[in-house]
Amino acid sequence: MSWETIVGHQSALERFQKSARRNRLASTYLFVGPSGIGKRTFALKLAQSLLCSSTPESALECCSHCPACQQVLSGSHPDLIQVAKPADKKFIPVETFIGDREHRRQRGMCHDIGLKPFYGGRKIAIIDDADDLNAESANSLLKTLEEPPPKSILILIGTSQQRQLQTIISRSQVVHFSPLTAEQVQEVLERHHLLDPETDPRPIAQAANGSVEQAIRLSNPELLEFVQLLYHQLASLDPTQEDFAKSLGTFVESAGKDAALKRRRLSEVGDFAIYFYRDLLHRSADSREVHENLEKHTAASLSQFRQTGFTDSVIQEAASACIRRTLSMQQEVHANAMQANVITNWLADLGRLSRAEIAFDFY
Ligand SMILES: [Zn+2]
Repeated sequence: MSWETIVGHQSALERFQKSARRNRLASTYLFVGPSGIGKRTFALKLAQSLLCSSTPESALECCSHCPACQQVLSGSHPDLIQVAKPADKKFIPVETFIGDREHRRQRGMCHDIGLKPFYGGRKIAIIDDADDLNAESANSLLKTLEEPPPKSILILIGTSQQRQLQTIISRSQVVHFSPLTAEQVQEVLERHHLLDPETDPRPIAQAANGSVEQAIRLSNPELLEFVQLLYHQLASLDPTQEDFAKSLGTFVESAGKDAALKRRRLSEVGDFAIYFYRDLLHRSADSREVHENLEKHTAASLSQFRQTGFTDSVIQEAASACIRRTLSMQQEVHANAMQANVITNWLADLGRLSRAEIAFDFY
């Protein structure tokens, strides 16, 4: 019953159920997939199922009532360690894993996971923001990955396999998580009452690229309307058409008088363009994806690219180049470059990259 609260990710669940039945769970997993689709929620449910004291581990279920389940839900289970990148840091500090200089290997996650489980079951660690492991932090983890304490399970969570260090990938079992369908996003929004009761969840779920996180950002009706227009333009492979640079300029201007507000708005539009291209990248790479489930704009974009004669791997290269170009646009915005020029050049370049008129490695 317990997994009913998780929306989507059926194939990942089946994989874990099979391993649990055969008593063949690995010691390190790397969860990868776009942000805001429920990877962390899945990891917590997995931990709860393994720590629940009233269901056997082989069933991979949890009762939600026993003290262990309650402690997982409240974040106080002594055998569940959770770490993430602090908001004010660029990377997960090495101290998080092996303690500060005075207490090297006597504190930190690697030390704690080696302690005897308080309940005699397992020790589980969830490392969020695995994209933000630098070489030093990753190296500090290697000893634990190579010689995992008995019955310990480590779950690293990142957004894509490409962003992980090879030293981590080679020591983990990689589990891929796909974006949710629009229906599934809507289900999560409704079930957890994440929107204002008067707000219609359907157009928001449709524009959210399979991510609940994006759906929540799109609950601002002004932004939703503009993002739908943006997707339409990006899917056409010529985002400069229909005087879109001007529409974008007007939208950015309407953020307020303050230049910082305008910069923030343009950067946010960039975020949504990145989401769009990431979704395209993910869905064109995922052959298991059922194409009827594609969101309208992603389907339109894939079909436009294919009509141009692009194979899936070329589409992925083009989408990656458009992401890099958008990241550089966001840097220009923060460096206070002339807004009108930034917009015009960015849109023109996205169009050229989408039509392979400039080399993908140019950006
Ligand atoms: Zn329980």
